[in-house]
Amino acid sequence: MHELSLAVELVRAAEEAARRADANRVTAVAVTVGALSGVAEDALRFAFDVAAAGTLLAGARLDVRPVPVTVRCPRCGDVPLPGVQLFRCPVCDTPTADVRAGRELELESIEVE
Ligand SMILES: [Zn+2]
Repeated sequence: MHELSLAVELVRAAEEAARRADANRVTAVAVTVGALSGVAEDALRFAFDVAAAGTLLAGARLDVRPVPVTVRCPRCGDVPLPGVQLFRCPVCDTPTADVRAGRELELESIEVE
């Protein structure tokens, strides 16, 4: 399962940050998930609980923040797309496959105590 290895990475990164902050426990983790990342939120939540067990993150809340696909239009610059199918500028209709955002899965912030 793709999500499990991602969740293990997230837990490791969050634990590292928590240790640097001298925290005893991580209570919440926020991640940004791009619309093109291929990550299913349900699967990620399940994998996160599995990966967090027995770590500083056990029982932590997972906040998933979706990131829309953003493409670079040669005429309009960076524009967010309303969906993930049509790779053309929603403003002027110029076709573009120059993806600037939407593929990421990133640890955004953690809450500790
Ligand atoms: Zn455009």
